[in-house]
Amino acid sequence: MNPTQTESASLRDLPPGGWSRFSTLLKRALTRRCPQCGAKGIFKNYLELRETCPRCAYRFDREEGYFLGGYGLGVIFSGLIPLILLIFAFVYTDWDWITLELIFIPMAILLPLLLFPYTRTLWMTIDLVLDPNEHTEKRVRHHNIK
Ligand SMILES: [Zn+2]
Repeated sequence: MNPTQTESASLRDLPPGGWSRFSTLLKRALTRRCPQCGAKGIFKNYLELRETCPRCAYRFDREEGYFLGGYGLGVIFSGLIPLILLIFAFVYTDWDWITLELIFIPMAILLPLLLFPYTRTLWMTIDLVLDPNEHTEKRVRHHNIK
């Protein structure tokens, strides 16, 4: 184990499992914090995630194609939220097509951008609940992958 991994492990501030682990990770995802230690500032700007956490050095992109699931979440949320709101608007309002277009076309353009950082942090939450990084670290050390 190199010093970075030792330091990273000592800064790990995650419940071992269960609901408390999930709720901690979910709170961190919704506030755009490091899933591992809860530090702020893991994004360079609104959209761009840093490679590692500035506090605990946790590597966010755990393997090639890691954030593909995050893109999937983005597609699902960006499609479902407008669809549900559109159905709601059809059923409970008498707005004409022009009004609906003025609301939902900008929403379809802006929502994926607004949700993008959250889909990444939510993907890291799902990943760390299903596959705690202790397992990945062992796998990386075993295969000597950097
Ligand atoms: Zn961190």
